[in-house]
Amino acid sequence: MEGKELQSRIEGTVTTSTDAKYENLRRELIWNQLTPARYPQMIVQVATEQDVVEAVRFARTHRMKVAVRGGGHSWVGFSLRDESLLLDLGRLTQVSIDRAAGTAAIQPAVSGQDLNRQLAVHGLAFPVGHCPTVSLSGFLLNGGLGWNFNSWGPACFSIEAANAVTADGSLVSVNQEQNTDLLWAIRGAGPGFFAVVTRYCLKLYPAPRAMTTSTYFYPLQQVEEVGAWAANIAGRLPKEVELTIFFAPAPPAFAERCKASNGFACILSATAFVDTQSEATAILSILDSCPVAHQCLGKELNQPTPFDTLFEMGDMLWPGRRHYSADTLWSNSSPAKLLATLRDHFMRAPSPQSLAVLVFSSGVDGVASPLPDAAFSMTAKMLLLCYAIWERPADNAANIAWHQETIAAVDPFAVGHYVGESDIVAAPARAERSFAPANWQRLQALRRKYDPDGLFHGHFGTR
Ligand SMILES: Cc1cc2nc3c(=O)[nH]c(=O)nc-3n(C[C@H](O)[C@H](O)[C@H](O)COP(=O)(O)OP(=O)(O)OC[C@H]3O[C@@H](n4cnc5c(N)ncnc54)[C@H](O)[C@@H]3O)c2cc1C
Repeated sequence: MEGKELQSRIEGTVTTSTDAKYENLRRELIWNQLTPARYPQMIVQVATEQDVVEAVRFARTHRMKVAVRGGGHSWVGFSLRDESLLLDLGRLTQVSIDRAAGTAAIQPAVSGQDLNRQLAVHGLAFPVGHCPTVSLSGFLLNGGLGWNFNSWGPACFSIEAANAVTADGSLVSVNQEQNTDLLWAIRGAGPGFFAVVTRYCLKLYPAPRAMTTSTYFYPLQQVEEVGAWAANIAGRLPKEVELTIFFAPAPPAFAERCKASNGFACILSATAFVDTQSEATAILSILDSCPVAHQCLGKELNQPTPFDTLFEMGDMLWPGRRHYSADTLWSNSSPAKLLATLRDHFMRAPSPQSLAVLVFSSGVDGVASPLPDAAFSMTAKMLLLCYAIWERPADNAANIAWHQETIAAVDPFAVGHYVGESDIVAAPARAERSFAPANWQRLQALRRKYDPDGLFHGHFGTR
């Protein structure tokens, strides 16, 4: 009955928990196949900004809590909440580019690949997520550690303005003059934000014309030497280089030689976001100076990697239609010790598809630049992301247990976490630890100001 009432007021689609298509839809909305057992009362797939206003007002009137979904890529399926009206923004994908101003106005659910393809026509780019399908919606709210983020910065700092629907059902403009505290919060508040962002206005960047990647495959046994050396060179690399160590399934050519390390290889990869091939080659040549370079299993040097190629790499590392457990930490510790601890766990990972990623902050001294004043407020010299990735539900328990043990082992190396890729359901304290203490306090105060009745579902373990 209530579903029909809202349906009559919006262009989008209302599905209630008693509808036949409900369960399929609930599962389809979450990218991770490890679908949480949490059940919204009603799913509202909005078609317009006005639909969002109507749905929020409807929820207020009917005393329902609101959860929001952008592109459904939250590893923990954050948008699935019991007893909620789930507002799905997935159909809001329009992009409008102002080439002269170097800005784009986007609806939230456009994916990183779609945005950068449209920008490429104009010679422009944006620091989007590493996988093609990650939508800008939650990615930007999280902070947005996208391609070339050392140079372009976490993507949230390129949000110049936004539209948002607040808990009282008003559509408000957010910019440097109006609702400035909402702009502060939108830049990094993360999941559980206390309004719905219906439009972002983004500052764009000239697209680098010669994006180039060099990759070295090492035995996992070599990871301490490679890690210690990589941390040293990170500070000497220009910020336009993204330097990463992966623990990933060895490519077929090296599979036999990686059997002793449970099938995993240590992959050192650096991508230069520059304008000429010669500049890229000169910058990336430093990778040959690794003291154990002669022991690498193989290398692929100076490969042209435009965004679509980088996205293909992302798709290989984080394949779709898999079960995932994910977590992160920022660290200033010894990379050799951190990676050795991780290696010991990967040696007995139950799934051969699992993955770890250690990204170095490049630039002066390898320290991330001071951050502008915004909710996003946690960085360090290295960001570690660790994923259990597996195919069959029958393997859930073994992989979840392995991931939890691995994360517990590396946790002592953490100075904080990244709210966008941490398990803030199993460990809700990780949300707070993703912010500087004063920024977290200010976020809670803004939540009380903008959503005094707790209309929007916040973090797990809170009201
Ligand atoms: C394969 C893969 C690759 C990734 N790569 C990266 C990466 O390179 N860098 C990085 O930083 N992160 C990355 N992430 C993490 C990503 O930032 C988060 O998953 C993010 O939540 C994705 O946005 P979404 O809109 O799909 O989120 P959803 O799952 O749709 O939303 C999660 C929560 O965010 C909030 N939210 C989302 N949109 C809005 C909105 N418009 N208004 C209000 N609240 C909203 C809601 O609380 C919602 O429940 C990756 C994730 C995956 C699965």
